[in-house]
Amino acid sequence: MRAAIIAIGSELLTPHRTDTNSLWLTERLNDLGIHVALKVAVPDDRESLCSTLKSLLSRFPLIISTGGLGPTEDDLTRESFAEALGLSLRFVPEIHEIITRRFEARQLPMSVNNRKQAMVLEGARWLRNSAGTAPGMYLDRSGITLVMLPGPPHEMRGIFIESVEPVLRSRSGGSRIYRRLLRATGLPESALDDQIAPIYAAYPEIETTILASVTGHEIHLATVAAESETADERLGELSRRIADRLGSNLFTTSGERLEAVLMGMLVQRGATVSAAESCTGGLVSKRLTDLAGSSTYFRGGVVAYDNAAKARLLGVPGALIAERGAVSSEVAEQMARGVRAKFESTFGMGITGIAGPGGGTEDKPVGLVYVSVADERDAVTRRLSLPGDRQHVRAWSAQIALDMLRRRLLSAS
Ligand code: ATP
Ligand code: MG
Repeated sequence: MRAAIIAIGSELLTPHRTDTNSLWLTERLNDLGIHVALKVAVPDDRESLCSTLKSLLSRFPLIISTGGLGPTEDDLTRESFAEALGLSLRFVPEIHEIITRRFEARQLPMSVNNRKQAMVLEGARWLRNSAGTAPGMYLDRSGITLVMLPGPPHEMRGIFIESVEPVLRSRSGGSRIYRRLLRATGLPESALDDQIAPIYAAYPEIETTILASVTGHEIHLATVAAESETADERLGELSRRIADRLGSNLFTTSGERLEAVLMGMLVQRGATVSAAESCTGGLVSKRLTDLAGSSTYFRGGVVAYDNAAKARLLGVPGALIAERGAVSSEVAEQMARGVRAKFESTFGMGITGIAGPGGGTEDKPVGLVYVSVADERDAVTRRLSLPGDRQHVRAWSAQIALDMLRRRLLSAS
């Protein structure tokens, strides 16, 4: 089944508020095997609300709105939808009673405006709101289901879970969406897609979406099935084929973040790591310590920004810095070796580069970064030329550093 979501509220069309309700609803609907094919944000304006609903009525069997059910003048969802559907609004004393009691219990004066919240679309079922005053509404009419929910996220969620989900589930015949998340790093998104598109194209019953990300490109697989075994088999087969194709560029078929994959590898080998960072300012150490339990494999880190700090704290020879420059392959390697020795870890990582926007020269431009991973025997150092702004250069440097460690661990096994 295909659904549309209408997020109502003028604030959602400003830079200050984001429509997060639709993200939450989409996840729940997907779990029921319902595909969200369209969503819109509409201001609190009668004309816009009315025309939006009218335009969606002929196109979607399920329409869910959030917002604009409050008691104030600008809450126009009821009136506007009634007009669009050519239905009247009826006063429901029971709702009025519940709202009155709610105010009494809190010893708050009730405004006459709250009477508006007891108005329900003709033919609609009203849905109890245990977290607020405005009830939701559920209307089945000429093959279309219209669900109206209040805007405050906790109220919207409560009503959906309590009163909407069970009805939609019973209508879905038990089928739902099953998902799998694979992540890959070390190749551009376009190259990734070139490699795997011929594979996933052969599985029309699985929807494959690729999302580029600096922490690892995400390959989302989704399929609708009535039984989890059917879905597992289907998704498992495609996952395996993608994994075979991508080889070491793929680091998980079960949605783990790179940090978690590294944690597993380091713990399994009883290995430890430490990091010496310049341009990443601690980002590598931050990511290595994002997970609980990181003390078993992370020994510590040094942010050695200044040349003197590189010499004093990491033992990088001052003469080397003077001769090769702070941003050089030799210095990155000495940082990795130095931090490894200081912390007595299995691996040491060294990162030095020019994040920009200033500080670049002709032979050492912004985006030039050296990353080194050392163990007791040798160091592997890479020279990177990264595009983008300061944050981009830093984020990619950290990602590539972590990925180099992963590849090092892979080849050592
Ligand atoms: P009430 O006025 O009774 O609180 P309502 O149904 O009229 O309920 P709105 O006035 O539209 O709801 O929204 C109330 C608050 O809920 C907003 O200030 C906003 O913070 C939040 N909200 C509304 N819509 C969304 C949305 N789509 N995503 C996230 N938050 C939302
Ligand atoms: Mg409101």
